[in-house]
Amino acid sequence: MNKIPPVDLTRQYKLIQEEANSAVLDILNSGHYIGGEAIANFEQEFADYIGVTQCVSCNSGTDALFLALKALNIGEADEVITTAFSFFATAEVVSRVGAKPIFVDIDPHTFNLNLAQIEQAITPHTKAIIPVHLFGQPVNMTALMAIAKKHNLYVIEDCAQATGAAWGQNKIGSIGHVGCFSFFPTKNLGACGDGGAITTNDLAIAKQARILKEHGSPSRYRHDFIGINSRIDAIQAVILTVKLRYLDYWNEQRQKAADYYHQLLQPISCLKLPQALPGGNSVWNQYTICLAEHCSTNRSNGDITARRERIKQNLQQKGVISMIYYPIPLHLQPVYQNLGYQKGQLPAVEQAAQQVLSLPMFPGILPVEQEQVAYALKDCLLEVEHLV
Ligand SMILES: *Cc1c(COP(=O)(O)O)cnc(C)c1O
Repeated sequence: MNKIPPVDLTRQYKLIQEEANSAVLDILNSGHYIGGEAIANFEQEFADYIGVTQCVSCNSGTDALFLALKALNIGEADEVITTAFSFFATAEVVSRVGAKPIFVDIDPHTFNLNLAQIEQAITPHTKAIIPVHLFGQPVNMTALMAIAKKHNLYVIEDCAQATGAAWGQNKIGSIGHVGCFSFFPTKNLGACGDGGAITTNDLAIAKQARILKEHGSPSRYRHDFIGINSRIDAIQAVILTVKLRYLDYWNEQRQKAADYYHQLLQPISCLKLPQALPGGNSVWNQYTICLAEHCSTNRSNGDITARRERIKQNLQQKGVISMIYYPIPLHLQPVYQNLGYQKGQLPAVEQAAQQVLSLPMFPGILPVEQEQVAYALKDCLLEVEHLV
């Protein structure tokens, strides 16, 4: 029995091994490990790829979000609307600049912000909205930008899980005022270490972000702001420049893998499969299923989270490693108790947190491996849950 990991990065590496090794060796031999041409080249190529005029690289997706908020002068007494179903960093940065995250529920079909609930969350303190293109699925940016425009709000796109995704004709990260990307290794465009970037068409925002990421310094040894130190290594920049040329190919492979999962899993009536929104082009950072609602009721064998845990364990015994993104919604995180959210307040987020299960998904996953995942899943729904 083969073991199928949630992600296997060695398969990507094998494809680019020679190019990447030689690019890294060039950097090692050059002695220029920080800044310089490698960084400028990557920023230019990434801006061109996303379809914006400006790209500012930094140390992580988290820093990208932080720099975006800071560059837009968002801080004390400001409110920022975002989803409660995301990685913690999305909300953490809002708190770190001194602003208050305002959590909105999700659309259970896309796991993304429920746009119909944004307007009621807007107050005179609201400065920005952070939509998260979760699991690679783009938010409906046409509708979101219309709301933002009507209320004069900034839109900071959290594109960490969706590099290469598009809404209509436009890549995500080129539609809001700022796009924030992560190059963490498991993201669609992943470095061999940490990295991040912001994208924008607004020169003033880019300029300010660049000053802030260099200790608030517009010129050497002059400091106008309290900034941070946030750089991407030259080694990571050249690896990303090589990998960027393969990104569309890898995203197509993810799409094919998603289609195949769909075909394999469709007959299992107890699973709710991820849906792609018309108008958007998802890049499938994750393939995330739920146990369908009708299978969670009128059954005596435990609540749905316990059932999910049994399924996860059972899959693992069959060599399939699944993941739970994310088990605790942001509004119910211990650190956010002070914000006063109650259990039950964002029902779609809370339900997703109890039901989601992400299956192995990465470029280069083999059809035979996906078949093993599907058979294992069907088996444990039969054996453990008697559901199929
Ligand atoms: C990964 C991720 C981040 C943070 O990116 P890092 O590079 O790990 O700092 C932010 N938001 C979301 C949605 C992410 O998935």
